[in-house]
Amino acid sequence: MLLEHKLEDLDLQKDKINKQIEKRNAQRKLPCYSCNGKHKICELEAIQTYYYTEPYSCTGGDFVTRSDLHFVCPITGDRNRMLFMTNYDIPREKRSHYVNDPEEQFSRMYKHLFKNVTDEDHHVKSDSFNNEYVSKHMKQFGLSIQDLEKWVKTSFHVCWLKLTNI
Ligand SMILES: [Zn+2]
Repeated sequence: MLLEHKLEDLDLQKDKINKQIEKRNAQRKLPCYSCNGKHKICELEAIQTYYYTEPYSCTGGDFVTRSDLHFVCPITGDRNRMLFMTNYDIPREKRSHYVNDPEEQFSRMYKHLFKNVTDEDHHVKSDSFNNEYVSKHMKQFGLSIQDLEKWVKTSFHVCWLKLTNI
């Protein structure tokens, strides 16, 4: 078998496994703090909130920052505001700079699996239940947070290995 064909086979296998992972993740359930039940991610409506920073001085501001993700209980119509407390000491606007930001990971892995996601301004008033479940059960959702220092060392190590292989 040509090596190129082997690579194509591997790509196909990878696609297949990725689809299986997506399917499994879409079936994962989120505990709802409104009805005290659990709902499958693929059956939930989500709302992504954003906030706008007004322009200031000559070059500052005039940008939109992603805020919290909410999901709506299909039974009560109330919202669950998903909170990720792990990085509470890092300002929100800087959290996405970290590869291990759990909120970023959740967004990347799960946001597209909700039934639908609508965008909303952060200032829209809505009653919601604060829901930290995912943040407190990261392993269950395949999220991991690494010590940043350790991550930098590992990255350095990988670079060093690549350099020495040249
Ligand atoms: Zn519910």
